[in-house]
Amino acid sequence: MGKIISKIPDGPLASKWTKYKASVKLVNPANKKKLEIIVIGTGLSGAGASSALGELGYSVKTFCYQDSPRRAHSVAAQGGINAAKNYQNDGDSTYRLFYDMIKGGDFRAREANVYRAAEVSNQVIDHYTALGVPFARDYGGTLDTRSFGGVQVSRTFYSKGQTGQQCLLGVYSSLNRQIKKGNVTMYPRREMLDLVLVDGKARGIIARNLLTGEIERHAAHAVVLATGGYGTIYFLSTLAVNSNASAAWKAHKKGAFFANPSFVQIHPTCVPQLNEFQSKLTLMSESLRNDGRVWVPKTKGDSRPANDIPEEERDYFLERRYPAFGNLVPRDVASRAAKERCDAGFGIGETGLAVNLDFRDSIKKQGKEAIESKYGNLFDMYKTITGINSYEEPMRIYPAGHYTMGGLWVDYELMTTIPGLYAIGESNFSDHGANRLGASSLMQASGDGYFILPNTISNYLSDEIRVPKISTDKPEFDETEKAVIERLNKFISIKGKQTAASFHKRLGKIMWDYCGMVRNEEGLNKALVLIKDLRDEFWRDLNIPGEFTELNQELEKAGRVADYFELAELLVTDALNRNESCGAHFREEYQTPEGEALRNDEEFAYVAAWEYAGEGKPHILHKEELKFEEVEMKVRSYK
Ligand SMILES: Cc1cc2nc3c(=O)[nH]c(=O)nc-3n(C[C@H](O)[C@H](O)[C@H](O)COP(=O)(O)OP(=O)(O)OC[C@H]3O[C@@H](n4cnc5c(N)ncnc54)[C@H](O)[C@@H]3O)c2cc1C
Repeated sequence: MGKIISKIPDGPLASKWTKYKASVKLVNPANKKKLEIIVIGTGLSGAGASSALGELGYSVKTFCYQDSPRRAHSVAAQGGINAAKNYQNDGDSTYRLFYDMIKGGDFRAREANVYRAAEVSNQVIDHYTALGVPFARDYGGTLDTRSFGGVQVSRTFYSKGQTGQQCLLGVYSSLNRQIKKGNVTMYPRREMLDLVLVDGKARGIIARNLLTGEIERHAAHAVVLATGGYGTIYFLSTLAVNSNASAAWKAHKKGAFFANPSFVQIHPTCVPQLNEFQSKLTLMSESLRNDGRVWVPKTKGDSRPANDIPEEERDYFLERRYPAFGNLVPRDVASRAAKERCDAGFGIGETGLAVNLDFRDSIKKQGKEAIESKYGNLFDMYKTITGINSYEEPMRIYPAGHYTMGGLWVDYELMTTIPGLYAIGESNFSDHGANRLGASSLMQASGDGYFILPNTISNYLSDEIRVPKISTDKPEFDETEKAVIERLNKFISIKGKQTAASFHKRLGKIMWDYCGMVRNEEGLNKALVLIKDLRDEFWRDLNIPGEFTELNQELEKAGRVADYFELAELLVTDALNRNESCGAHFREEYQTPEGEALRNDEEFAYVAAWEYAGEGKPHILHKEELKFEEVEMKVRSYK
């Protein structure tokens, strides 16, 4: 115990960040050039951090496994990005955004970090606008906004249904500017396979060139992980198929604590699974719930086409159960409500695992053109996948694995428990508690990368100015590289019969069935046994064709799935440990008579930060007590 020092500055919440920035140690411009920083990841957090650090004058080396930084998974974000601008004059403020996030996260996030994320949100929007991100504008030319779940104001800035793509293009331009200036060296198609520690500090990585198979060593004074979330642990999820947790997991095994791994968001509005052969699911943005109404037939098994079911025979179950927020309740609440209706036999379609998202009334009121201008590309995408024209009949939707609130534990400075190793964006655990509010991830990832990390990292680097360029000839690099190569060879030498993807699919099913939208003690214990058995089978019967010294996508998958087996065990252990329901973590044993989450603040108002204790040994739990000084912990209600 005792390694958890969150470094929250003292003083009033609203002035902590200003005070921190005014007193943080700085690095003089002449010294910055001599300091090298490795950034893994080129999503909004990683590319933002690389360009900001490059602009500041540091020597940055940036890595991603895609062929181009602009293919990072942030490109997939659809609905929007939050900021407390209050352009609508509807009562928004930094405090209200902070409060909505704390409440939305079911009082399981750290106040100081959340307040800072809300505070920085306005800078993010100004910055993106300056970079030329084409946010939607109203008739007068002012930036337009819409609403997302769990809030009663309109604070989500957007570019139709491709906000992530447009923001990433902006970030990519600023990254390219730094590459051109020589401040950032870009390494695409590289996968970080391990972290190198020298004297307990993060000093470099071992990476594999995915095109040639070559193993590379890279050294730096500090390492930043901006490697995204681990939602693909469910195999079927809204994330890109290649998204994975391996970089974070490797750092974890080297000493970085992993926090709240069981806090996984299941998104309510996804295209339902169509068959057994799918490799991913597609999100239909939450923004659609601004104008779409969610309903099922009032009669069980009613198989009439949706348009033939009259108004009085429709159950708008979100509006019925949660009149104050209606269709815009947060994701965890909306997902469970849809599951409840489907489990009770009111679901639609061939599988009964779907509900309607209906735009009929909005189209009647606003006209098709207005709806098309807001969500046109999402309607097109839905039609391409399902063949259904949603201007004429409702979309069918069902919840799917989406966002991971858990991640590497970081302090206020976004540093992990390994000195010199930082985690930003979705890869850290920090700001969303047990449930993330929509449009707050792009906001957090961008804020972390552009505005927070570039300030906090100087506190560490100011003490590194006398450390010469780190050599990759050190024995620590030899040892780590040797271990990496041994592992790659081990995968290849198994020569079994099953592919990595087939194991991933089976692991995903275990996770979805026993540690998905709802969990209980019996199921979680069963999952632990099933995961272990499957993991043993994986190491006995995996088949990887080819060698590691060449392009080998099967080998890439194997490494990621092997790490997922270990993370899955920790995720389930964390879910078992948390004997309460909060946000997306819904333990069936702990619910109110109305079926809402029943928190236990007496015993569980903490961040569960898990320490790796070695192969085959149980993880060690550290608790970061959450102190709420500005807000009162209340029962979360959207009624
Ligand atoms: C379909 C979808 C829609 C979404 N819509 C919204 C939305 O409207 N609003 C919102 O706020 N949020 C949204 N989100 C969430 C949001 O998009 C993500 O949380 C956010 O973009 C994550 O950004 P990031 O920078 O942390 O990581 P990512 O964008 O996931 O980038 C990860 C980077 O890490 C690199 N990487 C990972 N591992 C390694 C490794 N081992 N070696 C080398 N490189 C590595 C990858 O190459 C990549 O460049 C959505 C998510 C999904 C799935």
